[in-house]
Amino acid sequence: MAATGAEWSTDAAVLGEKRLDRSGWEPDGRPLAVVYPRTVEQVRSVLRGAAVTRTPVVPRGAGTALTGGSAAGAGAVVVDLARMNRIVEIRAADGVAVVEPGVITADLDRAAAAVGLRYAPDPASLELSTIGGNIATNAGGLRCAKYGVTRDSVLGLDVVLAGGTLINTGRGTLKGVAGYDLTGLFVGSEGTLGVVVGATLRLRTLPAPTATIAASYPDVETAAAASVALAEARIQPVMAELLDEATLSALAGTGLRQDGGALLIVQTDGGDDEAAHAVAVLSRGATSVRSDGDPDSLLAARRQALPAIERLGRPLIEDIAVPRSQLASAVRSIADISRRHAVPICTLAHAGDGNLHPIIVAGSPGSPIPDSAHRAADEIFGLALELGGTVTGEHGVGVLKREWLAREIGPVQHALQQQIKSVFDPLGILNPGKGI
Ligand SMILES: Cc1cc2nc3c(=O)[nH]c(=O)nc-3n(C[C@H](O)[C@H](O)[C@H](O)COP(=O)(O)OP(=O)(O)OC[C@H]3O[C@@H](n4cnc5c(N)ncnc54)[C@H](O)[C@@H]3O)c2cc1C
Repeated sequence: MAATGAEWSTDAAVLGEKRLDRSGWEPDGRPLAVVYPRTVEQVRSVLRGAAVTRTPVVPRGAGTALTGGSAAGAGAVVVDLARMNRIVEIRAADGVAVVEPGVITADLDRAAAAVGLRYAPDPASLELSTIGGNIATNAGGLRCAKYGVTRDSVLGLDVVLAGGTLINTGRGTLKGVAGYDLTGLFVGSEGTLGVVVGATLRLRTLPAPTATIAASYPDVETAAAASVALAEARIQPVMAELLDEATLSALAGTGLRQDGGALLIVQTDGGDDEAAHAVAVLSRGATSVRSDGDPDSLLAARRQALPAIERLGRPLIEDIAVPRSQLASAVRSIADISRRHAVPICTLAHAGDGNLHPIIVAGSPGSPIPDSAHRAADEIFGLALELGGTVTGEHGVGVLKREWLAREIGPVQHALQQQIKSVFDPLGILNPGKGI
């Protein structure tokens, strides 16, 4: 490790921390070492050495993955990219930022805002997660309903391949179609095809939000139907976040539960007429509709939903997406699954793009997840596919959904994807056992 020139650690406490991500999944054993490269050359050197010794490499950003994707077990070396965290340049006239992978997502957005631009993808973890981790998981977020997921903002990548070769994919222009889209292939590849060491990202001029509306409903099904009514009225909100009764109760102290059994937080940026139209549509069936609250505290409460649920017990965090028109049907079936398996499920959703997070609260922290919770999760995945959706809308496959990925894409595509993996990683040492 010393030969790479990078700092590294084999301290037991550090290895214990880097062994886990935020999914609760635990690998066997602890990694061999954690390396903290500061330069591309150091990453190349680590990967060259790993190829010689056949050592598994687990790239890591902030470790906020919810799938086991950044967890690292026995025999692996963790390549922690958090110290490669420079915003190299922001070219405002081109609408482009060039960054290292360890930049924190919110820091890039703030730097872009300083020149009148924004970095659109905003996962709820944006104050913690890194751009490299967002790229590797193709992270979504709140305003992705209108401005797209991470893939829609990645123009080009610098990637160190297994064996240490550096490639530069894509381009620094807003358009470009030469060759196969390797940039798109690396986005969402969960560290299984290469290590992202640099990114050229698209920045945008986003209008300032016009209105942030808190609409309460008697139950989650009515709230889900209201979010679909927005789409039917041809209103394109920046975000439409849905929180069910169990989630609102977990957010005790915010006062959000008092107006109804489910809440939709809708933000628009298309001017006063659009905002008034949205209020009118959301008012149907609502117990309360307010647009005079403090948007920042409303969104902060939404971003606190997952940590608040985590305090209730050991969570099994799911992440299905369904066609938007099927949202109400999906929440109805999830409530039924919760009843039949006698497991509490808190459901929150990026309703604007049909992405639901049913979170099964599966027992006390540290206790094993009961079979009933796994059976409920299995039914939820089955439900997503039945409704024409997917088993992961934004968190990725990691270790937890590999079996379901195979069911979703079928044997032919699964075999093709495995062949792609072996083209990029013939020794099978890049984040093995993850993603596919
Ligand atoms: C409270 C909370 C809220 C969340 N909200 C959202 C949300 O709204 N939307 C969403 O999509 N996700 C969300 N997540 C999940 C998580 O934050 C995202 O998946 C995020 O993109 C992970 O970034 P990270 O830097 O923590 O990556 P890590 O967890 O460190 O890594 C994630 C994956 O990317 C790989 N990886 C990391 N860096 C690189 C690199 N440079 N090159 C190659 N591979 C790499 C890892 O090997 C791993 O497979 C949330 C998580 C938490 C804890």
